[in-house]
Amino acid sequence: MRLLLVEDDAMIGEAVLQVLRTEHYAVDWVRDGAMADAALRSEQYDLVLLDLGLPQRDGLEVLRALRSRHASVPVLVATARDAVGDRIAGLDAGADDYLVKPYDTDELLARIRALLRRSGGRGEPVFEHKGVSLNPATREAMVQGQPVSLSAREWSVLEALLARPGALLSRAQLEEKLFSWKDDISSNAVEVYVHGLRKKLGNDFIQTVRGLGYLVPRA
Ligand code: CA
Repeated sequence: MRLLLVEDDAMIGEAVLQVLRTEHYAVDWVRDGAMADAALRSEQYDLVLLDLGLPQRDGLEVLRALRSRHASVPVLVATARDAVGDRIAGLDAGADDYLVKPYDTDELLARIRALLRRSGGRGEPVFEHKGVSLNPATREAMVQGQPVSLSAREWSVLEALLARPGALLSRAQLEEKLFSWKDDISSNAVEVYVHGLRKKLGNDFIQTVRGLGYLVPRA
């Protein structure tokens, strides 16, 4: 999953970036409203963590511009403790949820998981499909009831495919979810992760559609 972190405070930004990377999210971090706006116009994110008090362009402005483009990416707003007005304005401008600073990182992660679940159209917290299950909260993967160890990126590929069984994801779409701006992408990275997953899940779990991409067959 690819996240955009918008935070001008260097200490908070560093800390949150570390937490999110430890959870294996691919994260781009921008420190002002203009950069946030540019990033949101050029990349497809799965979620945005948006501070409201920003240099260049206010967070609310960035949010309103995003929603005016009919982008449905979930937005989690971070506000100051006493700023009830900001929270209301944020929600009314199109934010999906908010956190009050300073926030607990476990709560941050749980809210991110909840928003990703909702935006994926799922109610259930665990992905389950044909004997394979993924639990984003515990990061446990099981195959036919047996725990299996996945690398961070194998996990991300599988999670993206399981989010919409039957839907085709191109290599470029998978790369977008796997890598932030800082990462070097080797040209066959996705193939390598799919190969690794097939060894662990069985050859037929992920299907290659030649020249187009990958999917997890529905039935
Ligand atoms: Ca700020």
